[in-house]
Amino acid sequence: MTRKMLVVGEVKDNTLRHVSFETIAAAMKIADGGEIVGVLFGENLTSHAKAMIHYGADRIITVEREELADYTTDAYSQAFLQVYEQEQPNGIILAHTSVGKDLAPRLAAKLNNGLVSDVVAIENDSEKPVFTRPIYSGKAFEKKTMGEGIIFATIRPNNIPALTEDLSRTGTMTNMDVELKDLRTTIKEVVKKTTDGVDLAEANIIVAGGRGVKSAEGFKPLEQLADALGAAIGASRGACDAEYCEYSLQIGQTGKVVTPDLYIAAGISGAIQHLAGMSNAKVIVAINKDPEAPIFDVADYGIVGDLFEVIPMLTEECKNV
Ligand code: FAD
Repeated sequence: MTRKMLVVGEVKDNTLRHVSFETIAAAMKIADGGEIVGVLFGENLTSHAKAMIHYGADRIITVEREELADYTTDAYSQAFLQVYEQEQPNGIILAHTSVGKDLAPRLAAKLNNGLVSDVVAIENDSEKPVFTRPIYSGKAFEKKTMGEGIIFATIRPNNIPALTEDLSRTGTMTNMDVELKDLRTTIKEVVKKTTDGVDLAEANIIVAGGRGVKSAEGFKPLEQLADALGAAIGASRGACDAEYCEYSLQIGQTGKVVTPDLYIAAGISGAIQHLAGMSNAKVIVAINKDPEAPIFDVADYGIVGDLFEVIPMLTEECKNV
C-alpha cells in the first residue's frame, strides 16, 4: 500500500543530525513507493533541505522562523500541526532523540493518534508495518502494529541505516508560513557546554568510563583512546555521581540510550541500569580487573586487567592502524 510520509529533520547547532537521514530510510520502508516529505524548522535551512533530498526525500517543507531556531515543545508542535493539516500524510516518522521524545507524544495527543516509540526495526511485508522496539530496559523486544489512525513512530538513532547519499537526486523545496500564537516558552539564551568531542547519541564508537577510572584525571587515557578512534566519551552513573565527569555523559536507564557499532566499557561493573543504555551496541568490549564483573556477560570481547595499563596499549595499537 502506497503511503505519503512526513519526516522531521533535526537541526542542532546549524548541523543536520545524521538521524534525519535514518528517518527518511525508515519512512521509505513504510511508504512503499509513496512520497517522502521532509519538514525542517529553524533558520538557514536550504543546505539541510538539499541534504535531505540527497538522502531520499522527495519534497522538503522548510518553516523558517526565529522562534523555531531552538526547540520548544510549544512552537514546534504548533508549526508541525499546520504542516500536517496542509499535507494530510498517512504516516509520520521522528527520531527518538530528546527532541523527538518530547515532540512526538505531544503531537500524538493533539492528533488523537497512537504512537510507537523507540523503534529499532521495521518490516512492511503485510498490510500494516510491523515495528520492533525494546522493552524492559532492552532485555526483550516486542513487535507492534498500529490500529486506527495514521502510522506514527519514533526511531532510535543508529538502528535503521540511512540510504547512501546521492548528490544527483533532485526534489522540490518550499517555505511555509505558519502562525505561532500564545507561545508559553521562549528561549532567551542557550548556555552551551563546550565539548569538542563526537555527539554521544549518534556516535559510531563510544569509549565509556566507570567508577574504575577513579578520578576526573583518570578519564584522560580514555579521551586519548577516543581521539585515536574518532569516538565519543560516555560514562556510567557511578562515574558521574563521583564527579569524575558531567551527567550529560551518563549512559543507561536514567541517562542516554546508545547503539554504537563499538562500545568500549572501561572500569564499569555492568549494573542492569547501565546495560539498559548500551547492551544493544553491535560490538561490546569490556575492560575490568574483576573477572566476575557482570559486564562480561554482555561483552563480545572481554579484557581482564587494569584499565590504566590496557587503555594506553589499545591507544598505541589504534594509532598504528
Ligand atoms: P561500580 O559498580 O563501582 O564498578 C566499578 C568497576 O570498575 C568494578 O567492576 C571494578 O572491578 C572496576 N575497576 C576498578 N578499578 C579498575 C581498574 N583499574 N581497571 C579495570 N577495572 C577496574 N547506572 C548507570 O550507569 N546508568 C544509569 O542510567 C543508571 N540509572 C540508575 C537508575 C536507578 C533508579 C538506580 C537505582 C541506579 C542507576 N544506576 C545507573 C546506577 C547503577 O545501579 C550502578 O550503581 C552504576 O552503574 C555503577 O557504576 P560503575 O559500574 O561505574 O561502578
